[in-house]
Amino acid sequence: MQITTGKVVFIDYTLTDDEQEIIDSSRGGEPLGYLHGVGQLVPGLEAALEGRTAGEKLQVVIAPEDGYGQPDPGLVAVIPANQIEGVDEIEEGMQLHTETEDGEQTVLVTKIEGNEVTIDANHPLAGVTLNFDVTVVEVRDATPEEIDHGHAHGPDGHGH
Ligand code: ZN
Repeated sequence: MQITTGKVVFIDYTLTDDEQEIIDSSRGGEPLGYLHGVGQLVPGLEAALEGRTAGEKLQVVIAPEDGYGQPDPGLVAVIPANQIEGVDEIEEGMQLHTETEDGEQTVLVTKIEGNEVTIDANHPLAGVTLNFDVTVVEVRDATPEEIDHGHAHGPDGHGH
């Protein structure tokens, strides 16, 4: 069975950056299940998987434009430290959760200078070339419930 829109697909994958640092991997755990064709994966990976079948292995190099996009300078802001509430001590590299009009957002503290804190709301993988090493484990038809929910359930199609 080929991977097309409306199939539930299970993949084993390892994601590395251009320095061969492992960013994420399903290996050693459960395969990742997703509903194909609804944008659950980054566009470059979904396109590479189209038409593949169970057992196929592929290496995919995805430019930021087909991954998590380029960093948007408009998502970087400098705010006074005393405006940040609920954190005892702010440190560089810390993730903060903020409430915005669009819901909860995670921002990364990238720099602290005196009372000025630089926060970055870009996706952590924005601007990163993604190197996926993927094995297609299983391809099956999505259940009506999965189509309705817009995501994959477990291997047997039952779920939340
Ligand atoms: Zn569901």
